[in-house]
Amino acid sequence: MSDCIFCKIIKGDIPSQKVYEDELVYAFRDIAPAAPVHVLIVPKEHLCCLNAAKPEHQALLGHILLTAQKLAEDLGVKDDGYRIINNCGENAGQTVFHLHFHLLAGDTFSRLV
Ligand code: 5GP
Ligand code: ZN
Repeated sequence: MSDCIFCKIIKGDIPSQKVYEDELVYAFRDIAPAAPVHVLIVPKEHLCCLNAAKPEHQALLGHILLTAQKLAEDLGVKDDGYRIINNCGENAGQTVFHLHFHLLAGDTFSRLV
């Protein structure tokens, strides 16, 4: 997607603070961190949101969660705890329409659910 900001970050056309990359995903620091650790984990394939995921993306979605766990360990927050958030659609407050998961840690968070 030529006009997608996260596709441009993945391609390196927009600079980012990369935390991790493999053949399926790219992870980088959020530009406006909401916690001491705030990393975005995004699939390299452009999907607008979770609604665009199909059964063929099952392995990718599992890989994203296991990547989150690995990054939590690498960043030293695995044992203290961390939160994974996906905002899907307008009512959830999604602002960038390339599927992504927030990894938040380094603080205590109030519960929404
Ligand atoms: P959403 O609100 O869609 O769940 O999350 C989008 C996130 O992307 C926000 O937390 C926002 O700060 C982050 N973001 C938006 N543009 C950029 C950017 O150009 N670079 C980085 N690193 N993060 C961005
Ligand atoms: Zn994209």
